[in-house]
Amino acid sequence: MPLRLYNTLSGQLEELTPSDGDELRMYACGPTVYDYGHIGNFRTFLQIDVLRRLLHLEGIKMRHVMNITDVDDKIIRNAAAAGVPIGEYTPLYEQAFLDDLDSLRIERPEVLARATEHIPQMVELVERLAAVGAAYKTGEGAADGTGQGSWYFRLKAFPEYGKLSKKDLEGITDGARVDVDEYEKDSARDFALWKATKPGETCWETAIGTGRPGWHLECSAMAMKYLGESFDLHAGGEDLMFPHHENEIAQSETVTHKPLARHWMHVRFLLVDGKKMSKSEGNFYTLRDLLLKGYKASAIRLALISVPYRHQLNFTFEGLTEATNAIDRLRTFVARLKKAELAEGTTPGLQAAADKAEAGYLAALENDLNTAEARAPIFDLVRTVNSALDTGAVMAEDRERVLAVLEKFDAVFAVIEDNDAAPTKAALAWAESQGLSDKVAPELLVREGLTDEEIETLIAERNTARKQRNFRRSDEIRDELAAKGIVIEDAKDGVRWKRK
Ligand code: AMP
Ligand code: ZN
Repeated sequence: MPLRLYNTLSGQLEELTPSDGDELRMYACGPTVYDYGHIGNFRTFLQIDVLRRLLHLEGIKMRHVMNITDVDDKIIRNAAAAGVPIGEYTPLYEQAFLDDLDSLRIERPEVLARATEHIPQMVELVERLAAVGAAYKTGEGAADGTGQGSWYFRLKAFPEYGKLSKKDLEGITDGARVDVDEYEKDSARDFALWKATKPGETCWETAIGTGRPGWHLECSAMAMKYLGESFDLHAGGEDLMFPHHENEIAQSETVTHKPLARHWMHVRFLLVDGKKMSKSEGNFYTLRDLLLKGYKASAIRLALISVPYRHQLNFTFEGLTEATNAIDRLRTFVARLKKAELAEGTTPGLQAAADKAEAGYLAALENDLNTAEARAPIFDLVRTVNSALDTGAVMAEDRERVLAVLEKFDAVFAVIEDNDAAPTKAALAWAESQGLSDKVAPELLVREGLTDEEIETLIAERNTARKQRNFRRSDEIRDELAAKGIVIEDAKDGVRWKRK
């Protein structure tokens, strides 16, 4: 069954399929690279990753384009404060963003496009808008002495303005302007396409004057370059619906007379402990903050995707612990099932349970990406099979079937395969390089205090001690490992260990 996804534009659930052959063309607004990404940003990017991975699971190829906003007021301000050109300021944060995507196992888009590398496309779009009377220039010969002006979009030139957010835009005054380069939430006025710069500020000399692009312009210009005039899906956080996405629509559709995107997906903002996340509230977390507190990247991923994208997610540390425990259950189960000695054959009851879990899982995801309902049948299956393992009622073909279902689960959720060591190590190295070692949780330092090889060596020594019936030494090693957060389990087929 094809995925049914809520379309903000139509206000309805609609099938999402590639309109053009088998490749789904999607534009997702990307980060402004002036700081490290926070968990709100990553909730949005993770939910888009869920969509991407489901489409892949269903055999649909993607052409996913994401912009990197590497010029805007905040960037210019921060770079000036740091005393470096913006081109030296943004690469660190762009790389940090990409590293964070990897830590959270968010698949990279097919195209990552930097705003500063697409100035000619943006200038051309302003020229096309000016040619039809939808863009105008102000402030020529302004008092700042530059003799340059800013370009604005004339809202009256696009009567459909507001069709996405369905805002009541009564009272739009022709020619009333607002500078919306920084996130302006509730103004519906002529917006800046291109901004005149003050002497000494970052600027480009172009046919429309010397200046720099406004934020909205980059998305319209780059979407058109990489996806054509009209494409399948446009996505972003709910704050972007107005005015950013309305402005993109106005800029693009005024010149193309085609719908910019057929389908629009907006991810609801997350709250932290029931409140809007903000630095002044002390409830503001970057991904790195959480890794340094000792939470695993997989748990952060699961906590941020387990509430469906259109529902409010209230992020709490209890939620993170719940996610940690859930992943632990899944991983322990898979390890147990893989190691079990099973007779050839199948058990009809377990085959039926696996079929039911898979069908329930896929149906929930296909129903507007309902991740919460998709999880439930998988955990039910784990419970059922665990009980069957207890009584020896699982056969070899049941194992294959159950593992295949879990593989489908992990194709989207991506938490069972254990890749947690690398993000934690990278966060620790980063903290050290930034002089932030005081932010690292003491338990994490203990946990990371032993390498895998050191653990294996200690376990081998313990095995030898046990063979020699030197239980004092074997207990000592077990206690030493436990103190460092390493749990060892003596199973029939050897010793297993894991980090707590
Ligand atoms: P920015 O880097 O601020 O441009 O944001 C990048 C993406 O994160 C955009 O799609 C935003 O809508 C989204 N975003 C920002 N804050 C939150 C939040 N608290 N919850 C969910 N998404 C957010
Ligand atoms: Zn955008």
